[in-house]
Amino acid sequence: MLEVSDLTRLYGDFVAVDRVGFSIGQGEIVGLLGHNGAGKTTIMKMLSGYLEPNQGRISIDGIDLTDDAKQVQRTLGYLPESLPIYPEMSVADYLDYAAELKGLTGDHKYLEIKRAIGATAIADRLLSPISTLSRGYKQRVGVAQAILGQPRLLILDEPTNGLDPTQTEQMRRLIRDLAQDATVILSTHIMQEVEALCDRALILRNGRLAVDARLDELRHSNHLLIATTLAP
Ligand code: ATP
Repeated sequence: MLEVSDLTRLYGDFVAVDRVGFSIGQGEIVGLLGHNGAGKTTIMKMLSGYLEPNQGRISIDGIDLTDDAKQVQRTLGYLPESLPIYPEMSVADYLDYAAELKGLTGDHKYLEIKRAIGATAIADRLLSPISTLSRGYKQRVGVAQAILGQPRLLILDEPTNGLDPTQTEQMRRLIRDLAQDATVILSTHIMQEVEALCDRALILRNGRLAVDARLDELRHSNHLLIATTLAP
């Protein structure tokens, strides 16, 4: 469903993402793995349409992101590395605002917000300002906004980053549940995260795709090689 080819992004003269290509099939959970600064967030931002590539193509279900960004964006949900911060906004107001940005209105908007609240188990803090929530709770609010409108593709940028072990396990359970109905690409710098959740791993090294392999293939390959690949 997702096809990426020759994806490249520069910041000034610095090549942060260098001719990356991969495809993801319907229903897969794919981990984008890499050291700090490898280019994960830059790729996630380009996939979700928030950052333009300098070169390359991204298509979702055959529709080019650059041809029809608005329509494509409605088929995807994006959890950014850090939520846009509206510290004084309540969870309920934030979800209402996020739903409107996705073009949801009326009863459909109400039902979608209700569904997202149920799926992420955040009903008990709806009136709390976002600033008062724990990191784990904020991440669940982030996932709730990502799943509004029932996107077929979920792009999750380091969903368990900064979470304690209990919150991490909760988030992983939530991702497994969501993956029943959506294709998922998630980024992480932890191999165990990929092992716990993913069918396939894309390993980035200094902006380039170094490995694209199924998890069962990786398990049979040399772990030392993977560790070396992950080093910056
Ligand atoms: P992390 O795990 O630390 O979040 P990452 O793999 O997500 O890292 P990116 O955030 O995509 O990596 O950054 C890739 C490279 O591009 C890094 O060297 C980073 O310093 C650089 N970079 C990212 N954003 C910018 C920017 N706005 N301006 C200049 N350089 C940037």
